[in-house]
Formats: sequence, structure tokens, C-alpha cells
Amino acid sequence: MEQRKTTVKKKKYRILWHRVIIALIILAAVIGVVIWGIVSIISAIAGAFSDDDSSSAKDAAASVESSSAPVVTSSREPESSSQPQVKLKVVVDAGHGGKDAGAINPNDETHFEKDDVLKLALLVEQRLKEKGVEVIMTRDEDVFVTLDNRCIIANEAKADLFVSIHRNLYDGEAQGVEIWVNNKRIEADTLLGQNIMDGLDAAGISRNRGVNFGFIGNPHVNYQVNRETDMPSCLIELGFMQDETDNELFDKNCEKYATAIADGIWKTAKELGLVNS
Ligand SMILES: [Zn+2]
Repeated sequence: MEQRKTTVKKKKYRILWHRVIIALIILAAVIGVVIWGIVSIISAIAGAFSDDDSSSAKDAAASVESSSAPVVTSSREPESSSQPQVKLKVVVDAGHGGKDAGAINPNDETHFEKDDVLKLALLVEQRLKEKGVEVIMTRDEDVFVTLDNRCIIANEAKADLFVSIHRNLYDGEAQGVEIWVNNKRIEADTLLGQNIMDGLDAAGISRNRGVNFGFIGNPHVNYQVNRETDMPSCLIELGFMQDETDNELFDKNCEKYATAIADGIWKTAKELGLVNS
């Protein structure tokens, strides 16, 4: 009984060692496979990183371009330049249009507000797009758009800022530029109006009539585009249609006005933290 036990014990040990050796061989094989796998994964990750590097170089080139520094060209530039460079969405609203001529110059009945404001709005669109801004036009041709739809277009697009462009008319003597914002005197709206007014004043206008609250002749009412848009907004009255000085300045300075409006929008976006740069 005693001897048998010993034999069994010895046999047990021999079988165990045999199994241990087999296990070690299997383990070595498994470790080999795992190491091979890890090496493959590392080289795949390294490959992916080198792709990322080339794409961030492309983005860097794009941002240099937007800050108007010397243009860095690359073979991928056409692809990157077609992408929006900043996440800012602005509605440019050219007043009137189509059957609604807006104000008519009493000294020249073929001279309509709707045409002047469209010309300026299209230039503002260009200037903003040069900055990489996404621009939504409530109209870009001579068509009628209701005030309701102008607000709906802006709200549905969830635009960041809204700027409406008009020209004024007065039955008497009046000249200059005025800007209207919501009578709640919302800080962001007022800032937008003031930044644009500062730029227009510097560009050359007959008179700075200031940033005003509410509606002409009634501070308790608002222009619909200032009342029903969800984002900061303002309405620019760029000179009087019956005033020849204002008309001459408008024609002469149209490009400068467009730059001033786009720059005022851009400055406001920066001050409100809507864009980083
Ligand atoms: Zn108007």
C-alpha cells in the first residue's frame, strides 16, 4: 500500500513535468504571436499618425491664409480652401426687392432703394466669405421676400448674427447714416450696431446719426427683423435717397461701406466670443 502510493506519486510528477514542458512550448508560441501582433498594431498606428500630421499641416496653411499672411500653397490647397475656415454664420438681409422697390429717389424715379441695398449686400457677402464666414443671403437677386420669411430664414439657419441693409427717405432735408437695434437695448445687438457704425463713420459718411433703439418715431416698437430674429441683429439705413450728397457718397464709397460692415460684423463676432482669432 505504502509502495504503491510512492509509485503513483512518482508517476504523477513525471506526467506534470511533461505537461509543464508542453505548456511552456505553447506559451512561447503564444507570446511570439502576441509580440508579432503588437508590432503590427504599432506600425499601423504610426502610419495613421503620419496621415494626421499631413492634414494638420493643411489646416495650418488654411488658417495662415485666413489671417491674410503670405499664402502658403500646397497640392491640397484647392480642397482646403473650399472648406469653411471659421464657424460663424451671418445673415445679410438686403431690404425690399421685386415688387417692393423700397424708397424711391424723388429726383430720379428710376433710382430704387432695393437696387442700392442689393449691390451693397452682395459686396458684404463677398467680404465676409473672404474671412471664411458662412453667409446666408435673404435674397441675392431682385425678388420679393416677406419680412416674415427673412426672419424665418435666419432663425431656421440658427445664424449667429443678422444685418439688414436699407436706405432712408425723408420728405425734407435730412442726411447721414443711422442704425437701428431692438429697444430692449440688448448688449450684443447694440455692440453689433455700434461696431458697424464706427466703421461706416471712418469710411466716409455725411453725418453719423448714431445707433438708435426701437423704430423711427416710436421707441416702443421695433423693426420686425430686429424683433423676430433670435440672434443679435441691426438694421442699417445707409444715407437718404432724396439727398444728393448721400447718393454720391453711396456710389463712391460702396466698396468701403461693404468692408466697414463686414469688419464690424467680424469685430463683434470676436468680442462676443463667436470666433477665436
Ligand atoms: Zn428700406
